Amino acid sequence: MNKKNKISKDVYLPFHRPSLDKQEIKAAVKVIESGWLTTGKVCHDFAEQFRNYIGAKYAIPVNSCTAALHLALYAIDLQRGDEVLVPTMTFTATAEVVTYFGAHPIMVDCDPKTLLIDVKKIEEKITPRTKAIIPVHYAGQSCDIAALQKIAKKHNLKIIWDAAHSLPTRYKGKLIGTQGDITCFSFYSTKTLCTGEGGMATTNNAAYAERMRIAGLHGMSKDAWKRYSKGGSWFYEIVMPGYKYNLTDLAAAIGIEQLKKVEVMQKKREKIANQYTKVFSQFPEIELLEQKKYGINAWHLFVIKIHSDKLTINRDQFFIEMQERGVGVSVHFIPLHLHPYWRDTYKLKPADFPAATEAYHKILSIPIFPDMTNSEIKKVISAVESIIVKYRK
Ligand SMILES: *Cc1c(COP(=O)(O)O)cnc(C)c1O
Repeated sequence: MNKKNKISKDVYLPFHRPSLDKQEIKAAVKVIESGWLTTGKVCHDFAEQFRNYIGAKYAIPVNSCTAALHLALYAIDLQRGDEVLVPTMTFTATAEVVTYFGAHPIMVDCDPKTLLIDVKKIEEKITPRTKAIIPVHYAGQSCDIAALQKIAKKHNLKIIWDAAHSLPTRYKGKLIGTQGDITCFSFYSTKTLCTGEGGMATTNNAAYAERMRIAGLHGMSKDAWKRYSKGGSWFYEIVMPGYKYNLTDLAAAIGIEQLKKVEVMQKKREKIANQYTKVFSQFPEIELLEQKKYGINAWHLFVIKIHSDKLTINRDQFFIEMQERGVGVSVHFIPLHLHPYWRDTYKLKPADFPAATEAYHKILSIPIFPDMTNSEIKKVISAVESIIVKYRK
């Protein structure tokens, strides 16, 4: 919008700016003027369009990806004492939902080149109590889905995909969202489709869809929109103690507009990624994530690894140098095994996760969002370049 044209070289470039334009504003205003702000027709339309786009049989709109993951684990009937494998290189939401059931998240190390869950290290963590895996399509890359499905099949495990980073990510030409049992998307403000807060669970399994729908709205046999719309019956029954995870029409209206441009936004991020890759791959001081040929990356994040052995500064100092050059940066993620709660509860040691521990001290996420101007992209590139040139050994 107007504001971004005014951004000059001296202005701080934030790590992320969502691509919200006149269409999103108009759609949100329309919902406010309609008088129906909570879950209603707009939300149903959004879910239907999302379902169609992904090519899934069912899409359940919820108010966060965390809620979607929780409902997914309920759908597969996770029980107290069960174990669920999760990558350590993820956001805590992936693991915390497991504890809602009195079950245990079991962390798995990452592949050093992609930082995706290390497929080779999964089987050693499987026990008779293991019920499911929640792989994360980290940064927007696709996991090696076939390899994971093979392990799941062999050990009779469910797969819940954490797709918070991966709209639209493709695996062997096909969009993420229909593989495995259930896929969970995030529409959080920094994610590739933004509704402020929001999420979606997709599945081809009718029973899972029904369980998620009911559990996600107080355990009601019928939702409010159906009850209050013309011809709707007032009657409903509570069939379980559920949760309040419904997505509002206000958020869904923004989602509908965002979904229309989800492919265009991916192309823009991909173009930026290509520019970064071209320049940065010339520097031995930094390393980029390996891109697998089977996938098309949504490019939610652009992660660089700082080789501090080739520089006189480490990642933390690199981080500050970027900020001092007016570029917002971040770290994705502090691996779960290094957080006090997970570390102390499960007695996890850095040495148990050598790849993630090493990567953690190197990784830095740099800005990549669709509306970056050319001068903003150049600003990021020259910031990285100038730090390397200044501090190289
Ligand atoms: C953002 C994120 C989530 C949580 O998404 P919310 O919509 O904020 O609940 C889950 N997993 C990963 C990997 C994420 O980055």
